Amino acid sequence: MPSATPYRKIIHIDMDAFYASVEQRDEPEYRGKPIVVGGSPEGRGGVVATASYEARKFGIRSAMSAKQAKQLCPQAIFVRPRFAVYKEVSQHIREIFRRYTDLIEPLSLDEAYLDVTEDKLGVGSAIEVAKQIKQAIQEELNLTASAGVSINKFVAKIASDINKPDGLKFIGPSAIEKFMENLPVEKFFGVGKVTAEKMKKMGLHTGADLKTLTEQELTQHFGKVGGFYYQIVRGIDNRPVQPHRETKSMGAEDTFAYDLTTTEDMHEELDKIAQTVAARLDRYQLKGRTVTLKIKYSDFKQITRNQSFNHPVRDADTLTQTAKQLLAATNPEDARIRLLGISVSNFGEQPIKEKKTVIGEQLSLF
Ligand SMILES: [Mg+2]
Repeated sequence: MPSATPYRKIIHIDMDAFYASVEQRDEPEYRGKPIVVGGSPEGRGGVVATASYEARKFGIRSAMSAKQAKQLCPQAIFVRPRFAVYKEVSQHIREIFRRYTDLIEPLSLDEAYLDVTEDKLGVGSAIEVAKQIKQAIQEELNLTASAGVSINKFVAKIASDINKPDGLKFIGPSAIEKFMENLPVEKFFGVGKVTAEKMKKMGLHTGADLKTLTEQELTQHFGKVGGFYYQIVRGIDNRPVQPHRETKSMGAEDTFAYDLTTTEDMHEELDKIAQTVAARLDRYQLKGRTVTLKIKYSDFKQITRNQSFNHPVRDADTLTQTAKQLLAATNPEDARIRLLGISVSNFGEQPIKEKKTVIGEQLSLF
């Protein structure tokens, strides 16, 4: 007797140290060495895009300034990204995915959700599909990926991170609640460092702690996303895998450990953020006509200012200059600034396929 499938089968695939792995694959000299793909450590605005696992041992992380990376590991090899190559590899990976399903939601060049509730080849087991995909990526591209398998996007994504690199982790329906209870709050979708801090001050450290709050309390404290926390901590995430999501804006922001009070410091941070945004836009082949500056002050008051152009822009110089002009009109001399962000929107008609947003806030990585 045929029965309805009670659960969806969702896989999250994430390439391991993607850019750095591609560089190590293509350049034998780089293998086994600390490789940092991204901006130059000499200039002011260089940012780490991806660090090889050898470099991560020194504490180097994505989105860190290249200068800081060099301080942590002076012998690191800094490599400029080759986006054209990464895009090509990414297309090949998508082609592998498509052998199994058309329900593919890319989050970036190296990461995607797959819904394989009904896979094209009739494999049936999502774990087996994940194994086969990993194997194909290894054989055809000589790269490794990690996979998380579960019944929803949130848990699949967390799972893919557990046995990295070259990992495969399945978290089944009966294991989800326990798993969520033990999960530290920082791991929750959309919880950035500021929200995590706030949660900890409230004595909320794990999923189990979050579970003690009612939906209303969560919404009161954390806004709209609170309702999502309420569901997710109970293992419920009904968001579908969306093959064609539209990107409306793309940006990056940074919250500072201490308030910025001098224009010089503000400019320096804007340079860095602009670099990150420009690189992300480049990666997604996006240009936009509107540049928005976001400022949050030490009293948590927040403002945004924007400027629109006749032509679409994405280069770091334009972003920095625009952000600085917008900043200048806000009397920054008298301000104590806690957060700065730059985003680009108004993309118009472009072939847009990818985005990497999380509920509540945008990832500042690219
Ligand atoms: Mg990755």
